[in-house]
Amino acid sequence: MGEILVFLGPPGAGKGTLASWYREKTGARHISTGDVLRQAVKDGTEVGKVAAGYMDAGKLVPLEVILDVLFEAVPNFSEGTILLDGFPRTVEQAEALDQRLSEKGLEVNRVVLFEIPDEDVVKRLSSRLLCPECGAVYNLESAPPKQEGVCDACGESLIRRRDDEPDSIRERLKVYWDSTAPLVSYYKERGKLIPIDASKGIQEVRAELEKVSG
Ligand code: ADP
Ligand code: AMP
Repeated sequence: MGEILVFLGPPGAGKGTLASWYREKTGARHISTGDVLRQAVKDGTEVGKVAAGYMDAGKLVPLEVILDVLFEAVPNFSEGTILLDGFPRTVEQAEALDQRLSEKGLEVNRVVLFEIPDEDVVKRLSSRLLCPECGAVYNLESAPPKQEGVCDACGESLIRRRDDEPDSIRERLKVYWDSTAPLVSYYKERGKLIPIDASKGIQEVRAELEKVSG
């Protein structure tokens, strides 16, 4: 039986890194709304044109846009395990998701909360590198590529994300605490929340995730 899993937590908590690993391990479908939006920006689509300004500024893209993006990426939630990374990010988004799922007799099964202090997020994001071709994520300190500046997986030159600049990082943390953190009690009240300590090293966080995700 498939299930619907959500990774919740501040930017830089390691959601994407752990989601890639979890997908390889379990065959789950990993949907990162941030990745879908970055691809749309790269492709110059209408959605990409609307989203780019919000993303660079570290703000959330409007509700209607993100719902279109999500429901286009996942037209059918009932096939296999679906891992949502970076969605929902507001109570409104969570309600829209619940509404869509309940129409199909489905629900979010588990929400893994990546807990990490803001200082650690700032450090991680300041040293994050991204492959613009295949989306692989690296870190100058904790997860460097084998060859400096080059993607291990596809050989492309690595870049820094435009929203990993200090002003944008600060704004994204503010948005997280103002708009996304209320989802912690939303899912706790519904008995879905599984907190993990995301400030540990990658191997330790994997082990914790393995324990709780079955
Ligand atoms: P998110 O998807 O939550 O924004 P990422 O998965 O992109 O976060 O991780 C942010 C940065 O931190 C990346 O550079 C990644 O390589 C690095 N990273 C991820 N998990 C850990 C960890 N447990 N310890 C140290 N660095 C990590
Ligand atoms: P991420 O890759 O998850 O860090 O997301 C990068 C950016 O994409 C965010 O700062 C937002 O601008 C936008 N974004 C991603 N997911 C959402 C969402 N669920 N709601 C609104 N904006 C989003």
